Amino acid sequence: MERWSEEVLHDDLHTRIKIDRLLFDSKTEHQRLVLFESDTFGRVLTLDGVVQTTESDEFIYHEMMAHVPILAHGRARRVLIIGGGDGGMAEEVLKHGAIEHVTMVEIDAGVVEFSRKYLPNICKGAFDDARLHLVISDGAKFVAETDERFDIVIIDSTDPIGPAEILFTEPFYANVRRCLAEGGVIATQNGVPFLQSDELSSTLAAFRKLFRDATCYLATVPTYVGGPMAFGWASDDASLRRLPEGELERRFAAAGIETRYYTPAVHRAAFALPPYIEDMIG
Ligand code: SAM
Repeated sequence: MERWSEEVLHDDLHTRIKIDRLLFDSKTEHQRLVLFESDTFGRVLTLDGVVQTTESDEFIYHEMMAHVPILAHGRARRVLIIGGGDGGMAEEVLKHGAIEHVTMVEIDAGVVEFSRKYLPNICKGAFDDARLHLVISDGAKFVAETDERFDIVIIDSTDPIGPAEILFTEPFYANVRRCLAEGGVIATQNGVPFLQSDELSSTLAAFRKLFRDATCYLATVPTYVGGPMAFGWASDDASLRRLPEGELERRFAAAGIETRYYTPAVHRAAFALPPYIEDMIG
């Protein structure tokens, strides 16, 4: 009998991926974790029934959330990742030789242990990189208490349900701002605007109160259905998102990294927003 994994994140749209082989269905301290194989998507990780990452298209999400802020910043040395338990974001960030330190704050040790073991194609060697400092804690608590400062903060969270709900609130973003070094940038995952417009609007409303410049940029990730997904962007320096393509080309070449989705031209174009999304972010 065929088995399917059904995602019920959206009230009026449920999506299903065929489970060709179920590898795990377990409960961590915080969430229900399921791993299965799909002939189309490779290994698929779901948390509380929502797809988090798949072997086939994780590169799009992780490349766009890591390389866009790092290359736009240009001098980043210290990066904070909130969430990101599968290790794919850390792996992408650590491709940059200039990054000296990454703190990753993940609430669920179970996701990390599991991904290390069963998603090596996604985390690669990230968890063994001496530059990575893994903290198992609530990201909201971490940013409220730390004295450390970071050039880039990437919020690689689940959707605003359960433990991640707090990661979409204004007090949390205010604490993130406090953790940013001068010239710093925050990038957030904000779901698919066509289906989750409130998520994007409320994040951008908070950003506008806290930062001099705020917008979002887009990428199409096949498993996050419903159109392009949005990444929130905030900093105090609007020029960071308007760098000429030639400068991005120079930085990308100097970084010497290989990518399958990111290019400087894609980076520039990702900030071009259709009016229906402009309207959501005001
Ligand atoms: N690409 C993904 C998506 O949006 O579908 C996100 C993937 S990543 C696995 C999300 C991680 O955020 C999960 O491992 C989850 O445990 C973690 N997380 C959720 N709430 C958190 C919190 N308050 N502090 C730190 N990590 C949190």
